[in-house]
Amino acid sequence: MTTANKVALDPLYQLTDAELDARIVAAKAALGNRCVILGHHYQREEVYRYADLTGDSLKLARLASQRPEADYILFCGVHFMAEVADILSAPHQTAILPDMAAGCSMADMADLPAVEDCWRQLNTLLDAEATLTPITYVNSAADLKGFCGEHGGTVCTSSNAAHVLKWAFGEREKVLFFPDQHLGRNTGAAMGIGLEEMVLWRPTEPMGGLTPAQIKAAKIILWDGFCSVHQLFQPAHIEQWRQRLPGVQVICHPECSFEVCQKADALGSTELIQSRVREAPAGSQFVIGTELNLVNRLKHEMPEKEIHFLSPTLCMCSTMFRIDPQHLLWSLENLIAGEVVNPIVVPAQQAAMAKVALERMLAIV
Ligand code: SF4
Repeated sequence: MTTANKVALDPLYQLTDAELDARIVAAKAALGNRCVILGHHYQREEVYRYADLTGDSLKLARLASQRPEADYILFCGVHFMAEVADILSAPHQTAILPDMAAGCSMADMADLPAVEDCWRQLNTLLDAEATLTPITYVNSAADLKGFCGEHGGTVCTSSNAAHVLKWAFGEREKVLFFPDQHLGRNTGAAMGIGLEEMVLWRPTEPMGGLTPAQIKAAKIILWDGFCSVHQLFQPAHIEQWRQRLPGVQVICHPECSFEVCQKADALGSTELIQSRVREAPAGSQFVIGTELNLVNRLKHEMPEKEIHFLSPTLCMCSTMFRIDPQHLLWSLENLIAGEVVNPIVVPAQQAAMAKVALERMLAIV
């Protein structure tokens, strides 16, 4: 980056909220259609309000690819989301993450060397290529999506995980599912797969800490990863709400633990949670187990319904919280000055294989 044009970040923290707002609005107007701002459902309100498009990660990447006039896709989410936007966007478009520290703790729990090592170890026991389909949750690094593309596997989201698993069992007899054990287990259980047929692979232990008999009997080998936000919800929270509000509908995200999900009335992605609540009549009561910003937004949007957050403690995505109005403004004003700060560029080979996996998923659902 040339320093001549660069807009500095630190002074932006001296601005009042009104000054920040005025400069963000002016920067957006100056850039016009050249820049599209994407806001994930978990994004804080002070940033979300400036988004041109909102949704879950995959929906946003798809929507952005339908805006060819936008040279810049400014992703107010986390790193893997901006990678997907880069992979699915046209060559002339650049994905930008306003703060590079906005990562995903779940995505960080599986990396390519560890997954390759797992694959090698499993191959000593099974013919991995013939028996295993690797599936990565979209919440993962691009190179893991590339691994799935290369080995006949695919990607899934919390909306389509059941369809993707069904497809996988039509291809091969077993699935290696990473990085979220809970999404894999909850989806498998809903499809009628027994808990004993879903084993947990601990990447720091030889053979994942499993016996050959456990691996041979397994239908799904689950990576030992989880979301640090959703794991805070406990079954006791649901019991407490049911005592307080008999008849309340409890909806949880499938990144919550199996024990929590078993006690919920419904499981669903952020998109499904929102549509369920929006479609319900006035006076409906909901308790929701997903990230706090989404639940607060629904509460604000629908005061005629009674909407509660499942946990008594704050469960927020602290990494997504790194994107603040100052970083948003910094990214926008640098674009006006001709500087692209924090572009997300997935290396070509990785992007090509990741695209194979993503396109395979899009063909399934
Ligand atoms: S809520 Fe959890 S899975 Fe989602 S981005 Fe944050 S850390 Fe990752």
